[in-house]
Amino acid sequence: MVAEASRPPSVDKLARSLAHTGLPHPVLVDIARTAIADGDHESAQARAEAQQRVLLQPVINGTGVLLHTNLGRAPMAHTHTENFANLEFDLTTGARGSRQRPVGELLAKACGAEAAMVVNNGAAAVLLVLGALAAGRGVAVSRGELVEIGGGFRIPDVMNQSGARLVEVGTTNRTRLADFANAIDGAGGSGPAAGAPADNDVALVLQVHQSNYAIVGFTEAPTTAELATLAPPLVADIGSGLLDAACPWLDGGPPPWLKDEPAARQTLEAGADLVIFSGDKLLGGPQAGIIAGDAELVARCGRHPLARAVRPGGLVLAALQNLALTYLDRRGTDIAFWRMASYSVDELRERAESIVASASRSISATELDSTPGGGTLPGVEIPSFGLSMPGDHTDALRQHEPPIIARVVDDTTLIDLRTVDPADDQIIAAALDSAAALDSAAALGESSQ
Ligand SMILES: *Cc1c(COP(=O)(O)O)cnc(C)c1O
Repeated sequence: MVAEASRPPSVDKLARSLAHTGLPHPVLVDIARTAIADGDHESAQARAEAQQRVLLQPVINGTGVLLHTNLGRAPMAHTHTENFANLEFDLTTGARGSRQRPVGELLAKACGAEAAMVVNNGAAAVLLVLGALAAGRGVAVSRGELVEIGGGFRIPDVMNQSGARLVEVGTTNRTRLADFANAIDGAGGSGPAAGAPADNDVALVLQVHQSNYAIVGFTEAPTTAELATLAPPLVADIGSGLLDAACPWLDGGPPPWLKDEPAARQTLEAGADLVIFSGDKLLGGPQAGIIAGDAELVARCGRHPLARAVRPGGLVLAALQNLALTYLDRRGTDIAFWRMASYSVDELRERAESIVASASRSISATELDSTPGGGTLPGVEIPSFGLSMPGDHTDALRQHEPPIIARVVDDTTLIDLRTVDPADDQIIAAALDSAAALDSAAALGESSQ
Protein backbone atom coordinates (compact mmCIF):
# COMPACT_ATOMS: atom_id res chain seq x y z
CA MET A 1 0.00 0.00 0.00
CA VAL A 2 2.64 2.47 1.09
CA ALA A 3 4.84 1.72 -1.89
CA GLU A 4 1.82 2.05 -4.17
CA ALA A 5 0.82 5.45 -2.72
CA SER A 6 4.28 6.93 -3.00
CA ARG A 7 5.01 5.84 -6.56
CA PRO A 8 5.51 9.17 -8.32
CA PRO A 9 2.89 10.19 -10.88
CA SER A 10 4.03 11.48 -14.26
CA VAL A 11 5.25 15.08 -14.30
CA ASP A 12 2.43 16.04 -16.62
CA LYS A 13 -0.27 14.38 -14.55
CA LEU A 14 1.03 15.98 -11.36
CA ALA A 15 1.22 19.40 -13.05
CA ARG A 16 -2.38 19.04 -14.27
CA SER A 17 -3.55 18.16 -10.77
CA LEU A 18 -2.27 21.58 -9.65
CA ALA A 19 -4.21 23.54 -12.26
CA HIS A 20 -6.60 24.90 -9.62
CA THR A 21 -3.77 27.09 -8.27
CA GLY A 22 -4.19 29.24 -11.37
CA LEU A 23 -0.46 29.13 -12.19
CA PRO A 24 0.41 28.62 -15.88
CA HIS A 25 1.05 25.03 -16.96
CA PRO A 26 4.80 25.49 -17.73
CA VAL A 27 5.33 26.83 -14.20
CA LEU A 28 3.40 23.88 -12.73
CA VAL A 29 5.48 21.48 -14.82
CA ASP A 30 8.65 22.92 -13.25
CA ILE A 31 7.18 22.58 -9.79
CA ALA A 32 6.05 19.00 -10.44
CA ARG A 33 9.41 18.03 -11.91
CA THR A 34 11.37 19.44 -8.97
CA ALA A 35 9.05 17.82 -6.42
CA ILE A 36 9.41 14.43 -8.13
CA ALA A 37 13.18 14.85 -8.46
CA ASP A 38 13.33 15.58 -4.74
CA GLY A 39 11.45 12.32 -4.13
CA ASP A 40 8.63 14.30 -2.58
CA HIS A 41 5.81 14.56 -5.11
CA GLU A 42 3.29 14.97 -2.33
CA SER A 43 4.74 18.38 -1.58
CA ALA A 44 3.86 19.63 -5.07
CA GLN A 45 0.63 21.23 -3.94
CA ALA A 46 2.36 23.12 -1.11
CA ARG A 47 5.14 24.16 -3.48
CA ALA A 48 2.61 25.51 -5.98
CA GLU A 49 0.84 27.44 -3.25
CA ALA A 50 4.15 28.87 -2.05
CA GLN A 51 4.93 29.93 -5.61
CA GLN A 52 1.52 31.56 -5.85
CA ARG A 53 2.22 33.59 -2.72
CA VAL A 54 5.43 34.99 -4.17
CA LEU A 55 3.39 36.83 -6.79
CA LEU A 56 2.70 40.50 -6.26
CA GLN A 57 -0.73 40.85 -4.65
CA PRO A 58 -2.70 43.17 -2.36
CA VAL A 59 -2.05 42.77 1.37
CA ILE A 60 -3.61 44.33 4.45
CA ASN A 61 -1.03 46.37 6.36
CA GLY A 62 -1.72 45.94 10.07
CA THR A 63 1.77 47.02 11.11
CA GLY A 64 0.97 50.67 11.80
CA VAL A 65 3.90 51.70 9.59
CA LEU A 66 2.24 54.12 7.18
CA LEU A 67 4.93 53.98 4.51
CA HIS A 68 6.13 50.38 4.80
CA THR A 69 9.02 49.91 2.41
CA ASN A 70 8.44 46.15 2.20
CA LEU A 71 4.75 46.72 1.46
CA GLY A 72 5.35 49.22 -1.34
CA ARG A 73 5.49 52.46 0.69
CA ALA A 74 2.38 54.60 -0.03
CA PRO A 75 -0.80 52.66 -0.87
CA MET A 76 -2.17 53.86 -4.16
CA ALA A 77 -5.18 53.31 -6.36
CA HIS A 78 -4.66 52.96 -10.06
CA THR A 79 -6.86 51.82 -12.86
CA HIS A 80 -5.81 51.61 -16.41
CA THR A 81 -7.64 50.43 -19.47
CA GLU A 82 -6.06 49.10 -22.61
CA ASN A 83 -5.97 52.42 -24.42
CA PHE A 84 -3.55 54.71 -26.18
CA ALA A 85 -2.92 58.07 -24.54
CA ASN A 86 -1.54 61.42 -25.64
CA LEU A 87 1.68 60.68 -23.75
CA GLU A 88 3.85 62.60 -26.22
CA PHE A 89 1.28 64.11 -28.51
CA ASP A 90 -0.17 67.60 -28.42
CA LEU A 91 -3.90 67.32 -29.05
CA THR A 92 -4.19 71.03 -29.86
CA THR A 93 -1.52 71.26 -32.56
CA GLY A 94 -1.16 67.63 -33.60
CA ALA A 95 2.60 67.99 -33.09
CA ARG A 96 4.84 65.93 -30.86
CA GLY A 97 4.29 66.75 -27.18
CA SER A 98 6.30 66.30 -24.00
CA ARG A 99 5.47 63.51 -21.57
CA GLN A 100 6.94 65.66 -18.81
CA ARG A 101 5.16 68.95 -19.36
CA PRO A 102 1.55 68.38 -18.17
CA VAL A 103 2.45 66.52 -14.96
CA GLY A 104 5.46 68.76 -14.40
CA GLU A 105 3.32 71.87 -14.56
CA LEU A 106 0.76 70.49 -12.12
CA LEU A 107 3.40 69.35 -9.64
CA ALA A 108 5.22 72.67 -9.95
CA LYS A 109 1.96 74.51 -9.26
CA ALA A 110 1.30 72.31 -6.22
CA CYS A 111 4.65 73.17 -4.60
CA GLY A 112 5.23 76.71 -5.87
CA ALA A 113 8.03 75.83 -8.30
CA GLU A 114 8.66 77.35 -11.73
CA ALA A 115 8.94 73.92 -13.30
CA ALA A 116 9.15 70.24 -12.40
CA MET A 117 10.02 66.94 -14.01
CA VAL A 118 9.55 63.31 -13.07
CA VAL A 119 12.03 60.41 -13.07
CA ASN A 120 11.87 56.83 -11.82
CA ASN A 121 12.65 57.43 -8.15
CA GLY A 122 14.37 59.79 -5.75
CA ALA A 123 17.75 58.13 -6.22
CA ALA A 124 17.53 58.63 -9.99
CA ALA A 125 16.56 62.27 -9.43
CA VAL A 126 19.69 62.89 -7.34
CA LEU A 127 21.85 61.10 -9.91
CA LEU A 128 20.37 63.10 -12.79
CA VAL A 129 20.68 66.48 -11.05
CA LEU A 130 24.32 65.83 -10.13
CA GLY A 131 25.14 64.48 -13.59
CA ALA A 132 23.39 67.28 -15.44
CA LEU A 133 24.50 70.19 -13.29
CA ALA A 134 27.85 69.17 -11.79
CA ALA A 135 29.63 66.43 -13.81
CA GLY A 136 33.37 66.99 -13.62
CA ARG A 137 32.91 69.69 -10.99
CA GLY A 138 32.57 69.87 -7.21
CA VAL A 139 29.43 69.52 -5.11
CA ALA A 140 29.62 70.81 -1.55
CA VAL A 141 27.82 68.67 1.07
CA SER A 142 27.94 68.83 4.85
CA ARG A 143 29.66 65.85 6.48
CA GLY A 144 26.53 65.52 8.62
CA GLU A 145 24.46 64.81 5.52
CA LEU A 146 26.46 62.14 3.71
CA VAL A 147 23.55 59.78 4.21
CA GLU A 148 22.71 56.22 3.32
CA ILE A 149 18.98 55.95 2.65
CA GLY A 150 18.76 52.19 2.41
CA GLY A 151 18.82 49.83 -0.53
CA GLY A 152 22.40 50.92 -1.16
CA PHE A 153 21.67 54.59 -1.84
CA ARG A 154 24.68 56.47 -0.44
CA ILE A 155 25.34 60.08 -1.30
CA PRO A 156 29.12 59.64 -1.84
CA ASP A 157 28.52 56.66 -4.16
CA VAL A 158 25.82 58.42 -6.16
CA MET A 159 28.13 61.40 -6.44
CA ASN A 160 30.82 59.14 -7.94
CA GLN A 161 28.43 57.58 -10.40
CA SER A 162 27.26 61.01 -11.56
CA GLY A 163 30.78 62.15 -12.38
CA ALA A 164 30.59 64.99 -9.87
CA ARG A 165 33.23 65.38 -7.19
CA LEU A 166 32.22 65.36 -3.55
CA VAL A 167 33.48 68.35 -1.57
CA GLU A 168 32.97 67.45 2.09
CA VAL A 169 32.22 70.40 4.34
CA GLY A 170 32.32 70.79 8.14
CA THR A 171 32.06 67.90 10.58
CA THR A 172 29.56 65.17 11.36
CA ASN A 173 27.78 67.13 14.08
CA ARG A 174 28.61 70.76 13.34
CA THR A 175 28.78 72.51 10.01
CA ARG A 176 28.57 76.27 9.58
CA LEU A 177 27.82 78.55 6.67
CA ALA A 178 31.43 79.76 6.88
CA ASP A 179 32.63 76.18 6.26
CA PHE A 180 30.71 76.19 2.99
CA ALA A 181 31.98 79.64 2.07
CA ASN A 182 35.57 78.43 2.66
CA ALA A 183 35.08 75.32 0.59
CA ILE A 184 33.70 77.42 -2.26
CA ASP A 185 36.17 80.30 -2.10
CA GLY A 186 39.18 78.13 -1.44
CA ALA A 187 41.27 80.47 0.71
CA GLY A 188 38.58 81.35 3.22
CA GLY A 189 39.26 82.67 6.67
CA SER A 190 40.43 79.56 8.52
CA GLY A 191 43.96 79.35 7.13
CA PRO A 192 45.18 76.53 4.92
CA ALA A 193 42.16 74.27 5.10
CA ALA A 194 43.36 70.73 5.77
CA GLY A 195 41.88 68.35 3.23
CA ALA A 196 40.47 71.18 1.14
CA PRO A 197 40.12 70.18 -2.49
CA ALA A 198 42.92 71.21 -4.81
CA ASP A 199 40.56 73.08 -7.08
CA ASN A 200 37.56 74.85 -5.71
CA ASP A 201 35.28 74.67 -8.66
CA VAL A 202 32.04 74.07 -6.79
CA ALA A 203 29.09 73.76 -9.18
CA LEU A 204 26.40 73.07 -6.60
CA VAL A 205 25.66 73.13 -2.91
CA LEU A 206 23.67 70.02 -1.96
CA GLN A 207 21.56 69.86 1.17
CA VAL A 208 20.38 66.34 2.01
CA HIS A 209 17.61 65.71 4.50
CA GLN A 210 18.70 63.32 7.24
CA SER A 211 15.55 61.35 6.50
CA ASN A 212 16.06 58.24 8.56
CA TYR A 213 18.30 59.35 11.42
CA ALA A 214 18.89 62.33 13.67
CA ILE A 215 22.05 63.85 15.06
CA VAL A 216 21.31 65.14 18.54
CA GLY A 217 23.34 67.00 21.13
CA PHE A 218 26.09 69.46 20.20
CA THR A 219 24.95 70.14 16.66
CA GLU A 220 24.82 72.97 14.17
CA ALA A 221 23.83 73.14 10.53
CA PRO A 222 23.23 76.08 8.21
CA THR A 223 19.61 76.66 7.21
CA THR A 224 18.37 76.49 3.64
CA ALA A 225 18.07 80.29 3.63
CA GLU A 226 21.71 80.65 4.69
CA LEU A 227 22.97 78.17 2.10
CA ALA A 228 20.96 80.04 -0.53
CA THR A 229 23.16 83.11 0.01
CA LEU A 230 26.16 81.23 -1.42
CA ALA A 231 27.06 81.69 -5.07
CA PRO A 232 26.48 78.18 -6.50
CA PRO A 233 22.90 76.97 -7.05
CA LEU A 234 21.43 75.21 -4.01
CA VAL A 235 19.83 71.78 -4.46
CA ALA A 236 17.85 70.38 -1.54
CA ASP A 237 17.17 66.64 -1.49
CA ILE A 238 14.23 66.77 0.92
CA GLY A 239 13.48 63.07 0.51
CA SER A 240 9.92 62.69 1.66
CA GLY A 241 7.87 64.75 -0.78
CA LEU A 242 5.82 66.81 1.62
CA LEU A 243 4.56 69.44 -0.85
CA ASP A 244 3.62 72.19 1.57
CA ALA A 245 4.18 72.39 5.34
CA ALA A 246 0.74 74.00 5.76
CA CYS A 247 -0.99 70.93 4.23
CA PRO A 248 -3.73 73.05 2.59
CA TRP A 249 -5.25 69.79 1.26
CA LEU A 250 -6.23 68.81 4.82
CA ASP A 251 -9.18 70.52 6.52
CA GLY A 252 -7.48 70.41 9.89
CA GLY A 253 -4.06 71.53 8.62
CA PRO A 254 -0.90 69.50 9.25
CA PRO A 255 -0.95 66.73 11.86
CA PRO A 256 1.26 67.66 14.85
CA TRP A 257 3.80 64.86 14.24
CA LEU A 258 4.71 66.36 10.86
CA LYS A 259 6.51 69.33 12.39
CA ASP A 260 10.15 69.83 11.36
CA GLU A 261 9.72 67.79 8.18
CA PRO A 262 11.05 69.89 5.28
CA ALA A 263 8.45 70.71 2.64
CA ALA A 264 9.02 71.47 -1.03
CA ARG A 265 7.21 74.83 -1.11
CA GLN A 266 8.92 76.24 1.99
CA THR A 267 12.34 74.95 0.92
CA LEU A 268 11.98 76.74 -2.42
CA GLU A 269 10.70 79.87 -0.68
CA ALA A 270 13.75 79.77 1.58
CA GLY A 271 15.91 80.03 -1.53
CA ALA A 272 16.70 76.52 -2.78
CA ASP A 273 17.03 76.53 -6.57
CA LEU A 274 15.88 72.92 -6.87
CA VAL A 275 14.18 70.44 -4.58
CA ILE A 276 14.27 66.68 -5.09
CA PHE A 277 11.77 64.28 -3.54
CA SER A 278 10.22 60.83 -3.86
CA GLY A 279 6.74 60.11 -5.21
CA ASP A 280 5.89 57.29 -2.82
CA LYS A 281 6.77 58.72 0.59
CA LEU A 282 4.76 61.60 2.11
CA LEU A 283 3.55 62.56 -1.37
CA GLY A 284 1.49 59.38 -1.26
CA GLY A 285 1.87 58.41 -4.92
CA PRO A 286 3.66 55.89 -7.11
CA GLN A 287 7.39 55.22 -7.07
CA ALA A 288 8.88 58.29 -8.74
CA GLY A 289 11.41 61.03 -8.20
CA ILE A 290 10.50 64.68 -8.68
CA ILE A 291 12.88 67.52 -9.51
CA ALA A 292 11.24 70.92 -9.02
CA GLY A 293 12.36 74.53 -8.96
CA ASP A 294 14.19 76.89 -11.31
CA ALA A 295 12.94 76.38 -14.88
CA GLU A 296 16.37 76.69 -16.49
CA LEU A 297 17.94 74.12 -14.13
CA VAL A 298 15.02 71.70 -14.60
CA ALA A 299 15.38 72.10 -18.38
CA ARG A 300 19.11 71.31 -18.16
CA CYS A 301 18.25 68.11 -16.26
CA GLY A 302 15.69 67.25 -18.93
CA ARG A 303 18.24 67.67 -21.74
CA HIS A 304 20.87 65.40 -20.15
CA PRO A 305 21.21 61.93 -21.76
CA LEU A 306 20.53 60.24 -18.41
CA ALA A 307 17.03 61.79 -18.41
CA ARG A 308 16.04 59.36 -21.16
CA ALA A 309 17.35 56.41 -19.14
CA VAL A 310 15.39 57.34 -16.02
CA ARG A 311 12.19 58.62 -17.61
CA PRO A 312 8.89 57.37 -16.14
CA GLY A 313 6.28 55.44 -18.10
CA GLY A 314 2.74 56.50 -18.86
CA LEU A 315 1.30 54.48 -15.94
CA VAL A 316 3.34 56.41 -13.39
CA LEU A 317 2.70 59.75 -15.08
CA ALA A 318 -1.04 59.11 -15.17
CA ALA A 319 -1.02 58.23 -11.46
CA LEU A 320 1.05 61.31 -10.60
CA GLN A 321 -1.16 63.56 -12.72
CA ASN A 322 -4.20 62.29 -10.87
CA LEU A 323 -2.42 62.81 -7.56
CA ALA A 324 -1.35 66.37 -8.44
CA LEU A 325 -4.92 67.25 -9.44
CA THR A 326 -6.16 65.84 -6.14
CA TYR A 327 -3.68 67.99 -4.20
CA LEU A 328 -4.59 71.10 -6.20
CA ASP A 329 -8.29 70.37 -5.55
CA ARG A 330 -7.41 70.15 -1.86
CA ARG A 331 -9.02 66.72 -1.62
CA GLY A 332 -6.44 65.36 0.79
CA THR A 333 -8.70 62.60 2.09
CA ASP A 334 -8.88 61.17 -1.43
CA ILE A 335 -5.20 60.32 -0.97
CA ALA A 336 -4.84 57.06 0.97
CA PHE A 337 -1.72 58.18 2.81
CA TRP A 338 -3.34 61.38 4.11
CA ARG A 339 -6.50 59.49 5.04
CA MET A 340 -4.46 57.14 7.21
CA ALA A 341 -2.52 60.06 8.62
CA SER A 342 -5.72 61.93 9.51
CA TYR A 343 -7.79 59.29 11.33
CA SER A 344 -8.45 60.48 14.87
CA VAL A 345 -7.63 58.11 17.72
CA ASP A 346 -11.35 58.15 18.62
CA GLU A 347 -12.32 56.93 15.15
CA LEU A 348 -9.74 54.18 15.35
CA ARG A 349 -10.91 53.21 18.85
CA GLU A 350 -14.50 52.92 17.64
CA ARG A 351 -13.43 50.70 14.76
CA ALA A 352 -11.40 48.51 17.13
CA GLU A 353 -14.29 48.22 19.56
CA SER A 354 -16.76 47.27 16.88
CA ILE A 355 -14.40 44.55 15.62
CA VAL A 356 -13.98 43.28 19.17
CA ALA A 357 -17.77 43.22 19.66
CA SER A 358 -18.19 41.02 16.61
CA ALA A 359 -15.19 38.76 17.13
CA SER A 360 -13.86 36.09 19.45
CA ARG A 361 -13.34 36.84 23.13
CA SER A 362 -9.56 36.58 23.05
CA ILE A 363 -9.32 39.76 20.95
CA SER A 364 -9.17 43.15 22.62
CA ALA A 365 -8.95 46.78 21.59
CA THR A 366 -5.69 48.42 22.54
CA GLU A 367 -3.82 51.71 22.31
CA LEU A 368 -0.91 51.58 19.88
CA ASP A 369 1.61 53.92 18.25
CA SER A 370 1.88 54.08 14.47
CA THR A 371 5.03 55.31 12.75
CA PRO A 372 5.37 57.23 9.45
CA GLY A 373 8.04 54.83 8.10
CA GLY A 374 9.52 54.94 4.60
CA GLY A 375 12.76 56.38 5.95
CA THR A 376 10.99 59.55 7.08
CA LEU A 377 10.54 61.17 10.49
CA PRO A 378 12.74 58.87 12.60
CA GLY A 379 11.51 58.44 16.16
CA VAL A 380 8.10 59.96 15.44
CA GLU A 381 5.12 58.10 16.90
CA ILE A 382 1.49 58.70 15.98
CA PRO A 383 -1.06 57.79 18.66
CA SER A 384 -3.29 55.05 17.31
CA PHE A 385 -5.62 52.23 18.22
CA GLY A 386 -5.88 48.62 17.17
CA LEU A 387 -6.38 45.03 18.18
CA SER A 388 -4.39 42.62 20.28
CA MET A 389 -4.60 38.88 20.66
CA PRO A 390 -2.44 36.69 22.91
CA GLY A 391 0.15 34.57 21.13
CA ASP A 392 1.94 34.89 17.81
CA HIS A 393 -0.56 34.54 14.96
CA THR A 394 1.47 36.30 12.31
CA ASP A 395 1.98 33.11 10.26
CA ALA A 396 -1.73 32.33 10.10
CA LEU A 397 -2.57 35.94 9.27
CA ARG A 398 0.03 36.01 6.50
CA GLN A 399 -1.46 32.84 5.01
CA HIS A 400 -4.91 34.43 5.09
CA GLU A 401 -6.57 35.46 1.85
CA PRO A 402 -5.91 38.40 1.49
CA PRO A 403 -2.70 38.26 3.56
CA ILE A 404 -2.74 40.37 6.73
CA ILE A 405 0.61 41.65 8.00
CA ALA A 406 0.65 42.06 11.77
CA ARG A 407 3.40 42.44 14.35
CA VAL A 408 4.21 40.68 17.60
CA VAL A 409 5.27 42.32 20.83
CA ASP A 410 5.74 40.29 24.03
CA ASP A 411 4.06 37.23 22.50
CA THR A 412 0.99 39.29 21.63
CA THR A 413 -0.20 39.81 18.07
CA LEU A 414 -0.96 43.47 17.31
CA ILE A 415 -2.91 44.94 14.40
CA ASP A 416 -2.81 48.72 14.11
CA LEU A 417 -5.99 49.98 12.44
CA ARG A 418 -4.49 53.29 11.27
CA THR A 419 -2.88 51.56 8.29
CA VAL A 420 -5.96 49.43 7.56
CA ASP A 421 -8.68 50.60 5.20
CA PRO A 422 -11.99 50.57 7.16
CA ALA A 423 -13.43 48.45 4.34
CA ASP A 424 -11.06 45.69 5.50
CA ASP A 425 -12.11 45.70 9.17
CA GLN A 426 -14.49 42.77 8.77
CA ILE A 427 -11.84 40.76 6.92
CA ILE A 428 -9.58 41.25 9.92
CA ALA A 429 -12.34 40.31 12.36
CA ALA A 430 -12.96 37.06 10.46
CA ALA A 431 -9.24 36.27 10.17
CA LEU A 432 -8.66 36.81 13.89
CA ASP A 433 -11.70 34.68 14.64
CA SER A 434 -10.36 31.77 12.66
CA ALA A 435 -6.93 32.23 14.27
CA ALA A 436 -8.67 32.08 17.67
CA ALA A 437 -10.59 28.99 16.56
CA LEU A 438 -7.33 27.32 15.52
CA ASP A 439 -5.92 28.24 18.91
CA SER A 440 -8.73 26.68 20.89
CA ALA A 441 -8.70 23.60 18.67
CA ALA A 442 -5.00 23.27 19.42
CA ALA A 443 -5.61 23.80 23.13
CA LEU A 444 -8.33 21.12 23.04
CA GLY A 445 -5.92 18.79 21.28
CA GLU A 446 -3.30 19.36 23.95
CA SER A 447 -5.69 18.82 26.87
CA SER A 448 -6.96 15.58 25.39
CA GLN A 449 -3.46 14.12 25.08
C1 LIG B 1 14.21 58.32 0.25
C2 LIG B 1 15.26 59.28 -0.08
C3 LIG B 1 15.99 59.17 -1.27
C4 LIG B 1 15.76 58.06 -2.24
O1 LIG B 1 14.51 58.15 -2.83
P1 LIG B 1 13.88 56.85 -3.55
O2 LIG B 1 12.60 57.36 -4.11
O3 LIG B 1 13.71 55.83 -2.48
O4 LIG B 1 14.84 56.42 -4.58
C5 LIG B 1 16.96 60.10 -1.53
N1 LIG B 1 17.23 61.08 -0.66
C6 LIG B 1 16.57 61.22 0.51
C7 LIG B 1 16.93 62.33 1.43
C8 LIG B 1 15.55 60.32 0.84
O5 LIG B 1 14.90 60.44 2.01
